[in-house]
Amino acid sequence: MLDAVIVGGGPAGLNAALLLGRARRTVLLCDSGQPRNAGVHAMHGFLSRDGMDPAALRQAGRDQLRAYPTVQVRATQVRAVTRDADQFTVTLGDGTTEQARRLLLATGVVDELPPIPAWRSCGDAACSTAPTATAGRSATSPWRCWPATPATSSSRCS
Ligand SMILES: Cc1cc2nc3c(=O)[nH]c(=O)nc-3n(C[C@H](O)[C@H](O)[C@H](O)COP(=O)(O)OP(=O)(O)OC[C@H]3O[C@@H](n4cnc5c(N)ncnc54)[C@H](O)[C@@H]3O)c2cc1C
Repeated sequence: MLDAVIVGGGPAGLNAALLLGRARRTVLLCDSGQPRNAGVHAMHGFLSRDGMDPAALRQAGRDQLRAYPTVQVRATQVRAVTRDADQFTVTLGDGTTEQARRLLLATGVVDELPPIPAWRSCGDAACSTAPTATAGRSATSPWRCWPATPATSSSRCS
């Protein structure tokens, strides 16, 4: 039985795997490969990595985990979890199961965008769910936060 299964291989899950690997825990990290920031190619506001492609950050995390032989990384979804007394059973994308004493959820969040027609067309530098990440690209405009200046038309997004 594994010490832990980590569900999600974004920065949170990778960091957890790194710490558990350093503690020589047996860990399976499962990642379905749909990070919240999949649509951007430069991250900001993260000390020492400003401007880095977030995919490169995740790859660096996976590369560094190779130094820890008790950590396995699999590109698979966790489809189901059951708990029986002091063990968890996870069902993976291929239908196989794994048992672990601990389950660590690092699944991130999914944005539910407001029903504003202009949202998509005005571009992420103007309308963003992550202003700290994208505002630097429109440095001539201050940040505006919903709902103070609702972006109800494309003209409001400039
Ligand atoms: C447009 C945009 C730009 C952003 N820019 C920045 C930035 O510049 N700087 C910054 O610090 N932050 C930025 N963020 C926020 C960024 O997304 C988070 O900081 C970071 O991704 C959070 O990492 P996480 O590991 O919690 O989640 P995520 O990166 O979302 O990773 C979660 C992972 O879990 C996986 N997963 C979910 N469910 C399952 C399952 N059942 N089985 C297996 N795997 C599963 C997903 O596929 C995903 O790979 C941005 C967000 C957006 C939307």
